[in-house]
Amino acid sequence: MMCSLRKMEEDNSKHNKNSVRSLREHVDENPCGIVLNAPRTRQPKVFIKTFGCQMNTRDSELVAGVLLKAGYQLAENIESADIVLFNTCSVRQHAEDKVWSEIGCYGRCFKPQAAGRRKKHGACSLEPVARSPVIGLLGCMAENYKKAAFAKSALVDVVVGPNDIGSIADVLDEFFKRHIPQMAVGRKQRIDAVYDTDYVADKNHANVIIMEGCDNFCSYCIVPYVRGRERSRPAHEIIREIEGLVRKGVKEVTLLGQNVNSYTAHSSWLMAHGRKKIDFIDLLKMVNEVEGLEKFDFVTSHPKDASEELFRVMRELPRCKKFLHLPVQSGSDRILKLMNRGYTREHYIKLVKKAKEIIPGLRLTTDVLVGFPGETEADFQDTFDLMKEVEFSAAYIFKYSPRPRTKAAGLADDVPQPVKKERNQKLLEFQKSLHKKKSMYICQDGR
Ligand code: SF4
Repeated sequence: MMCSLRKMEEDNSKHNKNSVRSLREHVDENPCGIVLNAPRTRQPKVFIKTFGCQMNTRDSELVAGVLLKAGYQLAENIESADIVLFNTCSVRQHAEDKVWSEIGCYGRCFKPQAAGRRKKHGACSLEPVARSPVIGLLGCMAENYKKAAFAKSALVDVVVGPNDIGSIADVLDEFFKRHIPQMAVGRKQRIDAVYDTDYVADKNHANVIIMEGCDNFCSYCIVPYVRGRERSRPAHEIIREIEGLVRKGVKEVTLLGQNVNSYTAHSSWLMAHGRKKIDFIDLLKMVNEVEGLEKFDFVTSHPKDASEELFRVMRELPRCKKFLHLPVQSGSDRILKLMNRGYTREHYIKLVKKAKEIIPGLRLTTDVLVGFPGETEADFQDTFDLMKEVEFSAAYIFKYSPRPRTKAAGLADDVPQPVKKERNQKLLEFQKSLHKKKSMYICQDGR
């Protein structure tokens, strides 16, 4: 989600740094025009490049699990891959531009014929493409662009939406059989088995999806349109997955969802055990009981749904990390209303004061969006003042860009780019100065 996906991007960009670097190095060393055909093997090698949030990082693992079970292998680097899958993010225009540019860059070096074909045939890509490596567009951009992805880049061979990743092996098999572009998008909900495909990249920490999608429809956010409406996984499956991870040696998990506070599971299993539903707080208590699990945390909470009860439970559960990511997005009531966030500045400030009071040592982080349509200097100042008042441990600050199908896309994007940039910079600098001040305190305390 726009909100949950911030902390994640940083982690994920670290995760991806090596693969980006290796791609760039290879591009420099291999001028475009040289055909570097990957060897055809009976077990094609797949490289997955992840963009965006922790949910995408987890989805890439799920894709890897599905493909390993289907007999594919994982490539150690992009250069040795027969198939390169770009698992993408649509939260901002900038995120999408980056993906198209990486696909172009990779394709020009590795698929010059396809790049040439694009020039020759313009937008048309629906003709046989039988060369390796295969390029796949996965995730939110696949769902956002659907068939138009083939027109946008003739280098793309397969397109698979986030709820369709369970069929990735079938899609690739079909591509190898027929050598024409393949697409799987539009599924409303992924099948339960695709939340746990028995593959994790990190042996110490794992992400576990507990719910997906969002019903909040914040006016700037594309998530409900590409990830779908909110649904929660059955609690016993989540616990079974965590127990399995612990058996593999995992010590810490992060529970993932676009709006974790909305987690609600109903099932016949629950009915049979005399329970009508399990909510997020029940789930936290259940996770805390998993033997062998050392720590857990969760992202992302929504300020309109987070409660004092949640904070008390966080304090009381020994394995729950004292970390809360609570996106504020704006400090102006007028803008919050236009964003359809469902809370006021006053509510947010009271809530975080309560959270800090109840949970000693709380690490509180947030997301901020600057330059929303109609944001005046006074609105921005409200945001700046809120940040000064709350003193977040970290803040992920982004410039607004209109996303298709969202309500805000119908508003004039009237804050000029240089102003968005300036506001973004001002908040970043403030956050940096805060860190310096805090680390100075730590230093002084340490003496
Ligand atoms: S609609 Fe709002 S709450 Fe839902 S994912 Fe987007 S920003 Fe988060």
